[in-house]
Amino acid sequence: MRITIDEDRCRGHGVCCTVSPEVFDIGDDGYAVTEQPDVPREFQQAARTAAMSCPERAISCH
Ligand code: SF4
Repeated sequence: MRITIDEDRCRGHGVCCTVSPEVFDIGDDGYAVTEQPDVPREFQQAARTAAMSCPERAISCH
């Protein structure tokens, strides 16, 4: 599974980082980043939950 973060939608709430800290982080600019766009199997469930929890619908799972 691969994830993308829509930088135009992200507002930096950090919900994704709380739900899935292994996949998401807040970058120096205050918006979400990921070090693992190709999400390892063990983190995929949490990453999907993070995507559904994002108030801005900024995260896509492919
Ligand atoms: S939850 Fe959504 S809006 Fe908030 S930091 Fe994560 S990607 Fe951005």
